[in-house]
Amino acid sequence: MKGILSKIILILSVILLQSQAMSSILISKHHTVPESIKKEAKEALSFYPELEDVEIDIRFKKEIKKSTMQAQPQFWSLLKGRKGRRYVIFISKKIKITDSEFSTKNIPSNIIVGWLGHELGHVCDYQNRSSFGLVIFGFKYLFSEKFIKEAERNADSFAIIHGMEDYIVETKNFILEHANIPESYKNRIKRFYLSPEEIMLLIDERDKKMKVE
Ligand SMILES: [Zn+2]
Repeated sequence: MKGILSKIILILSVILLQSQAMSSILISKHHTVPESIKKEAKEALSFYPELEDVEIDIRFKKEIKKSTMQAQPQFWSLLKGRKGRRYVIFISKKIKITDSEFSTKNIPSNIIVGWLGHELGHVCDYQNRSSFGLVIFGFKYLFSEKFIKEAERNADSFAIIHGMEDYIVETKNFILEHANIPESYKNRIKRFYLSPEEIMLLIDERDKKMKVE
């Protein structure tokens, strides 16, 4: 019971945090992003032409537990139906690396593009779901590791289908090869996300399909 209560509190605090806006600039009709990662966001969005008319707000947040970025539908926009839906992608300002913390500012540009590509993959996945389906999705994500795995792999797959494999692979290698990134985070990446071998298989499949078409 206590566990459920703490998860409900977590959901409520997510809703509350979503309403705290931070300064962003408009990079297209429907997309806002912090000035400092404007270039990276434009690059990542260029792979997703179907998201051109979808409201997406990319924002910095002080710290995100267990991950560095997080894409989610804005809670109240779920009431408006699929067309009026709005998504927020939170980017952690700080990434905890063993004892020291380092700022997202110091991360290479391509890695940010790869991360954003993965998050936009989540947005694609969300666009295929009904609002009710997304509420269920949120709950499952909190309660089931099996479901987290499915959701994260879906996001990676969308990014690869959209041609972002170089960025996705570079981002994954950056995390796995970085000596100062804690083992627990690396294990999370290995457990929930696509492996390099699976990425290669997906690329093969995608290219075969393209040839047929
Ligand atoms: Zn993800």
